[in-house]
Amino acid sequence: MLILGIDTSCDDTGVGVVELTDAGQVRVRANRVWSQAIHATYGGVMPELASREHVERIDAVLEDALNEAGVRVADLGAVAATNGPGLMGALLVGLSYGKGLAQGLSVPFYAAHHLEGHIYAAASEADLRAPYLALVVSGGHTHLFDVPREGAYVLVGATRDDAAGEAFDKVARLCGLGYPGGPAISAAAERGNPDAVPLKEPLQGQSGFEFSFSGLKTAALLATQRGVNPEDLAASFERTVVRSLVKTTVRAAEHHGRRTVVVSGGVAANRALRAAFAATGLNVVFPGKGLNTDNGAMIALAGAAAIRAGRAPSDLSAGATAYAPLANA
Ligand code: ATP
Ligand code: FE
Repeated sequence: MLILGIDTSCDDTGVGVVELTDAGQVRVRANRVWSQAIHATYGGVMPELASREHVERIDAVLEDALNEAGVRVADLGAVAATNGPGLMGALLVGLSYGKGLAQGLSVPFYAAHHLEGHIYAAASEADLRAPYLALVVSGGHTHLFDVPREGAYVLVGATRDDAAGEAFDKVARLCGLGYPGGPAISAAAERGNPDAVPLKEPLQGQSGFEFSFSGLKTAALLATQRGVNPEDLAASFERTVVRSLVKTTVRAAEHHGRRTVVVSGGVAANRALRAAFAATGLNVVFPGKGLNTDNGAMIALAGAAAIRAGRAPSDLSAGATAYAPLANA
């Protein structure tokens, strides 16, 4: 069965196609993302502009995705779209579009939680089956979930302040690097000396599983005022964030007795983070290329998981939710 996935939760118009075989295997057939450049001039995402760009672009992105997969719209067996969390107007574009398509084709529709999409992005790389632990590190989230069984999410810990991706973006700005900050810091860090700017690891010695990045951001600001080398600061900042994420996640995995850990969201693209997790000895699964940041294929993968688990399709009358915590157990 071919499943279409749509994500328009923020400033990326994402459409993907995933194939679910009768044996329950999934394969990403297409993943097309239109990233809105219009917001760069404003230094942040303008919600109303985002909605309008989604409306203007979604037809073309769908066509691109179908072409990439080599299928026609009539071949689709199900449609999935993000219903939250995200920017309300932006969400509504993709959600309404997906519902309309499903209704027009007389195929089932599945509403998907954006973070569930980020987690299932890892299903492109491994046959993902609960139980496992999931760390979502993105622009808006640093959340650790225990997934004891399919579709059940127990919040184990989260950031007390900034999300990891947000911290990367802010420190990149302080260092005079570009946006998005993650890739810029990562590239600068490779040329820097992480020992040149000492930064304290946040929440050291805690018994819980929380994260905190705002203190690091302040320390970075003070360091730039002292005139440190931006590449050294990038290297030190990246190493400190990576250590905090990996140590806390490893402790949580031990605490919950999980051997498999999914690490997903935009920050999961970070090479230093991947290397540090690979060295833990745990079975760590990352999303495939192009599936870390917002995209439609991850939503199609979440839809595929819902279908595989025998979940009932969503009600077409259900709306979008700007604020929607994933934890349900
Ligand atoms: P959310 O899903 O929480 O609503 P989002 O969808 O905006 O947030 P994503 O698209 O998943 O977030 O990720 C974007 C974030 O990932 C940005 O903050 C960006 O800086 C960060 N990021 C991307 N690539 C890297 C990288 N190589 N290293 C570190 N961070 C990265
Ligand atoms: Fe996201």
